[in-house]
Amino acid sequence: MELKNQMEIYVLENIDSVLEKYPDCCKCEHCRQDIAVIALNHLPPRYVATQQGCVFAKIDAMTMETKIEIVEQIAKAVEIVSKNPHHG
Ligand SMILES: [Zn+2]
Repeated sequence: MELKNQMEIYVLENIDSVLEKYPDCCKCEHCRQDIAVIALNHLPPRYVATQQGCVFAKIDAMTMETKIEIVEQIAKAVEIVSKNPHHG
C-alpha cells in the first residue's frame, strides 16, 4: 500500500493554467518544481491510500473553495519564484 497526497496531483494539474497568466515567469522544470513545493506547503495535504496505482479511498469531490484556494496558492508561489528564481 502506498500513500498519495491528492493535493499534489491537483497542484501539478493546475500549474500550467496558472503559469499561462504569467508570461514573464520562467517555466523550466526547476522553477515549476519550486512553485509546486511552495504551493503545497501552504495547502492542507489530502492523503489517499493506493495499491498498484488504484486509489482505494473514495476521492472527495473538491469544493469550489478548495479549487480557488489551490489556484491562489499557485499564483502566490509563481510570484515568489518569478521574483527569486534559483538560477540566472
Ligand atoms: Zn527556471
